[in-house]
Formats: sequence, C-alpha cells, structure tokens
Amino acid sequence: MSESCSGNCASCASNCSSRDPKDMHIPCGPYSNIKKVIGVVSGKGGVGKSLVTSMLACAVQSKGRSAAILDADVTGPSIPKSFGLSGRAQGNDEYLFPVESKTGVKIMSVNFLLETEDSPVVWRGPVISGVVQQFWKDVAWGDVDYMFVDMPPGTGDVPLTVFQSIPLSGIIVVTTPQDLVTMIVKKAFNMAKLMNIPVLGIIENMSYALCPDCGKRIDIFGESKAEAVASELGVPVLAQIPVNPATAALVDKGAVELAGDEYISKAVELLERLDSE
Ligand code: ADP
Ligand code: MG
Repeated sequence: MSESCSGNCASCASNCSSRDPKDMHIPCGPYSNIKKVIGVVSGKGGVGKSLVTSMLACAVQSKGRSAAILDADVTGPSIPKSFGLSGRAQGNDEYLFPVESKTGVKIMSVNFLLETEDSPVVWRGPVISGVVQQFWKDVAWGDVDYMFVDMPPGTGDVPLTVFQSIPLSGIIVVTTPQDLVTMIVKKAFNMAKLMNIPVLGIIENMSYALCPDCGKRIDIFGESKAEAVASELGVPVLAQIPVNPATAALVDKGAVELAGDEYISKAVELLERLDSE
C-alpha cells in the first residue's frame, strides 16, 4: 500500500498486491438488474465503435431480449443522435431513468443531461470517469439482458474506470484494416488482458466496399488483416462490416435501428451463447 493510499481502490490505478480486481466493482443500483455487460472498445476514434454498439444493441433487442447502451464517450457522445433521440432524461431525487429508443433500447448518455446537444463537455478526466460510474449506479436501468458500453477511443481514464468498476462479461474490439489502427488495437487488447477482462473477439469495420453498380468487392484500405491479427491475439473475428453509404445515411438521420444485422449475426450468436453460461 502506498503512502498516498486513500483506501478507495475504485478510483486508483496502482497495482498493489493487496487489491482484488473484483473488489473494485461498483454495484449497480437497486432498480437495475443487468445480466451481461459488454464493452465496445477501439484504439482509435472514428472506426465505427458507436455504430457497432448500436447495431449489436438493436440486434439483441429485435430478438426479444432487453438491450441497453451506456454511452461512456462523454466528450464525444454520438449514440442519442444516431437513434434520433434528443431531449432530457427524466429523474427523481435519487435516480435517473434511461431514455428508450423506438424499439425499446434503453440509453443513457451525457447528451440527455446537457442544456443543448451541442454544449461542449469541458470537464477534467476524473469528473468524466465519475459521470460514467454514475451512469452505472445512479440510473434505474430495470431489467437488462445485455448492456453495451460505448467507450471513448484509446486506453485512457474512462476505459480504465469502466474496466475496473463495472463487472464486464467481456469486450469487443472494433478495428479497421489500416496498419496503424491494428497496432493501436493491440494496446486496447493488452489493457483488457492486463485487467483480466475476456476479449470476446474483433469486429472489423469498413473492411471493404461493394460497388453499387456491379457488386464487386473493393478493398479500400488494402487486404483485411483481421484474421491475422485475431489469430495472433487468439480471439475470433466476429464480423467484417463493409463501408455502406446507406448505413452512414441512416446514422445521420437518426435511424440506426433500421441498419439491420446482416453482418453481425456471428457476434449476436456469441452474445446469445454468453447468456446460457
Ligand atoms: P467511433 O464511435 O469509433 O468514433 P462511429 O461509429 O461514430 O465511430 O463512426 C464514425 C462515422 O463513420 C459515423 O458517421 C458512422 O456513421 C460512419 N460509419 C461507421 N462505419 C460505417 C460503415 N461501415 N459504413 C458507412 N459509414 C460508417
Ligand atoms: Mg463513438
């Protein structure tokens, strides 16, 4: 134990021998019954983490399970807009209530708490991490089969806080075929491993494009490296999602629920298997 120890492992990153990682988990609130929590991470921004989070949540919801999204990207929240949701979350003295999408996905995001959706969040790291913990414990989530945590990119404060304080069933790593991204992906993977969090698999987004005229596959970023990286890391490739202007248009107009699950069915099957464990 260091001299500066406050006794609160949940807000500390040091790796003392006296700590059990599970001790640092924060219980969710009394009005939440959350069965599985899946973190969606990436090394880098703009690779499609929020899109994948939304697609997974919509897919499990459409199978009759209850899905939720905890938007942990506090400075760059994009979930509400992609579901076409604006306005404020309701709450009482003790708890906040998630906002429900058209198909019933329960969502909490800092955008539901801001005066206007374009207000910037200019808070320091510990405040931001605190908000994410509050989304976990001070939101009355109700019954949730699968909660997806849409992470900010990288291996900073928020992923560290989520990994330490929320009991994750595992993480899904989102990547694109570029080399640099692959290198950064390994950082996210190694961070999860360091913290004993199972990596369920990799989803490669923007893997390729299909020519709208002839249907020919175009490898815009070069040949996919997903299989090679996945086997190097010893995890499966759960999906390869093409660049699709129609998907981008749906996200832009707040209709991500219509994007479908054509490319992520293997990932959804894996989530269903988790449930029976
Ligand atoms: P991240 O959360 O990793 O920063 P987003 O999910 O917000 O990334 O994606 C960045 C942008 O790219 C969004 O506008 C999204 O709609 C678009 N996008 C992501 N993946 C695809 C795809 N496969 N096809 C078309 N547009 C995509
Ligand atoms: Mg995002």
